[in-house]
Order: sequence, then C-alpha cells, then structure tokens
Amino acid sequence: MPAIDCCSQPGLMPIESARETLLQALKPVSGTEVISLAQATGRVLAENVVSTVNLPPCDNSAMDGYALRFEDLASGLPLELIGKSFAGAPFDGVVNPGTCVRIMTGAALPAGADTVVMQENVDAQGESIRITCDVRPGDHIRRCGEDVAEGSSLLQAGERISVPHIALIAAVGVGNVTVVRKPVVALFSTGDELRQPGDALSKGDIYDSNRIALLAALAQMDLDVLDLGILPDNKQTISDALERAAKEADAIITSGGVSVGEADYTREVLEELGEIGFWKVAMKPGKPFAFGFLQGTPFFGLPGNPVSALVTFYQLTVPALGVMKGIKWSGPQTLQAKLLKPLKKKPGRTDFQRGVYRSDENGELVVEPVGAQGSHILTGLAAANCFIVLARESGSVEAGDRVAIEPLGVPLG
Ligand code: AMP
Ligand code: MG
Repeated sequence: MPAIDCCSQPGLMPIESARETLLQALKPVSGTEVISLAQATGRVLAENVVSTVNLPPCDNSAMDGYALRFEDLASGLPLELIGKSFAGAPFDGVVNPGTCVRIMTGAALPAGADTVVMQENVDAQGESIRITCDVRPGDHIRRCGEDVAEGSSLLQAGERISVPHIALIAAVGVGNVTVVRKPVVALFSTGDELRQPGDALSKGDIYDSNRIALLAALAQMDLDVLDLGILPDNKQTISDALERAAKEADAIITSGGVSVGEADYTREVLEELGEIGFWKVAMKPGKPFAFGFLQGTPFFGLPGNPVSALVTFYQLTVPALGVMKGIKWSGPQTLQAKLLKPLKKKPGRTDFQRGVYRSDENGELVVEPVGAQGSHILTGLAAANCFIVLARESGSVEAGDRVAIEPLGVPLG
C-alpha cells in the first residue's frame, strides 16, 4: 500500500494524489451472488455476459406487409397469396416463384422469400396482390444476429448494470446475473452537540445532517449500511463503535473530528486503533480528510462541516467505494460550460463551487454560481445541480470564461 500519511509533507495534498492513493489502496470486496435480472439495476457484474443466441434469432419482418421473392417483381404480374406468418406462428411452407405470404411485424421470414413490401404499398384483391411502388431487394427485413451475434460478449465484469443493460441481457434469454457482493458501510457521527432531526434542540445543539445525507447517498449507491447513529464525545463509546465497525463492515465512514485541535475523541481513538493518515487535501471546501485502515477495514473520515462532508464524499469517497464495489473508476464526469458570473479564487486549492448549469437560448451550456459558498452553507448546495471545478493553480475567473462542471446526480461509485 502506498504511504497514507502526508503530514510529514509540507503544504497540502493535491486532490488528484489523494484520489490516486485511495484508489491504489483499495480492492473489490470478495464474494459474489447470483440475483434475478429485475433486481440487478446498479449492481456490478462479477462475470462477463456472453450471448448463447443470435438476436434477432432469425430473419424477420420489420413491417406489416407481404413477404415475397424480389425477382418476381420484374414481370409486373400479380402474386398469389399462399398463407400467413405471425409473430409466434410462422408460415411453414415455401414461397415459390409467383407466390407471396402475408406477414406481420416480428414474424419469421418464410423460406424462399427475400423481401418484404409494406401493406400500404400493396393492392390486395382476394388471393392475389399487386405491388404499387418501387421495391429494393431485402427491404424491411431484420437480419438474424444483426443486433447480437451468438457467442459475442455483451457486457464485461466490472460494469454497473443499467436498465438498458437489463433489456439487452433479458433479450438474449439470461434471467440471472452474477454480481459482486454489496459492500457493507458502517456510518456514524460523533459530537455531544448532534441531535437526530425531529428531536428537540437544547442551546448549542445542531442537527446531525451529515449522517442522514450520507445514508441517502449510500442507499443511492446500492450499498448496505450499518448505521451506528450519533455517538457522544466519549472515548470508550467511540472506540467500541470503531471496533464493531471494523469487524462487521467492509468500510467505515464518519464525519467530523478529523481536523486539528478537535475537542472530541475521534482523532485520538483513530490514532490508537488504526493506521490512519490525517490529510490536508488541497481542495475547497473540504480540506481535512482522514484515510487509512482500522484492523484491515478501510476508514474514511470526512470533515464535519456539512458542505465539506458532502464534497469530500463525492470527490474522494465515492470513487473509493466504487473500487470496493468492483468498478474501475473512469475519472470525473466533466462538461465545459460558459460561466455567467465572475468567481474569485486564489491559486493553491481545487475549488468546488456550487452552480446551476443549463442550456441557454442558443443551445450553449452555461453555468451560474449559486448562493453563498461557505462550507457550512447548505442552501447553496441544495440549490446547485453541479460543481464548478476550478483547477488548483487557477486564479479568479471572469464571466464568459469556459469552466469545467461536474453535474450532481446519483453518485456513480
Ligand atoms: P469538525 O470537523 O468536527 O471540527 O466539525 C466542523 C463543523 O461541522 C462544526 O460546526 C460541527 O458542529 C459541524 N458538524 C460536525 N458533525 C456534523 C454532523 N454530523 N452534521 C452536521 N454538522 C456537523
Ligand atoms: Mg466535532
């Protein structure tokens, strides 16, 4: 494992190095399970999916119409109607010269036929038909295997299963998939000041918003959570919770208590129990971040300030949890947008400003910073639909400048 303690280094740790250290230090959880396809959205494939069939399974019609032999059309003579082919009830005979078969969308193309003419272009009189338009050979036929060829690999181990993936897997007749076991994430907050939303506040108390937001994000990421609640600032309680979390969970996330000069015991207990690096990441918001291992279990210590907690979660913890889920992280999903208002910045830290992006009347992507940008200002984050990412060495940016944005959606780890 690479060095996880940067405290000996002068200055701050670039976010790219922090992320790289996390990604290198982690590996997918062991264990797989077989689940039904309908339950598989968001899960990660543990095995490649290979098709044992062709899709479509045979040549079939793309239209309601008539199946015929193209060369018969040269004479201009009417064709004799000799049967019907329905989806699920194919025509068993052969389309011999001078004959045709009524055919429905999705029905198998009968032997002998090589072209379908749509019914709107046919003049049908009893048992004979005439074609009333130009026809090209092979018209309106969906070819056997043109979507998926038998034996081809459809999806690879490590891919997150989407709804379109499920349609594809089901279409080749696979009902169950083998996926990576869901990692279990232990989560708790510490602080005598923290209260559960819904409870009454005494003077000096605040609501524990971080843990609730993280519970929601972890559920969106399809992870199982061991919710250890709010812990008081008590060394023994924190130590017991960390011991339990290290035994029962695959990863541990806490918020608060990782910056210098803490009044609570989280940092002290972590230093005793684990191999933890207390990082100062060159990012804003979210500088303090702890990472390491507690008895072999990865530990992520997010800063306590609510915006910092979520920004470090999205930027550092999500890719790390992705690795544990079996996903290869492919980098931040960034777009370029035109900034509508200037933003002040000093070089030195990567800035994650909260913004709203949209397409303007000319179809150009534009972005506007929202609200106050303090690390305790949740209204700005709640109003945002993206981060505006200003590179570490960048200074202030002007209205009209192009900036990188990262849309906020379902966390993709
Ligand atoms: P800390 O990182 O522990 O120094 O906390 C920084 C700030 O975040 C303080 O104002 C804390 O009260 C606040 N904070 C810590 N934990 C939470 C939490 N779970 N929910 C909301 N705010 C918190
Ligand atoms: Mg605290």
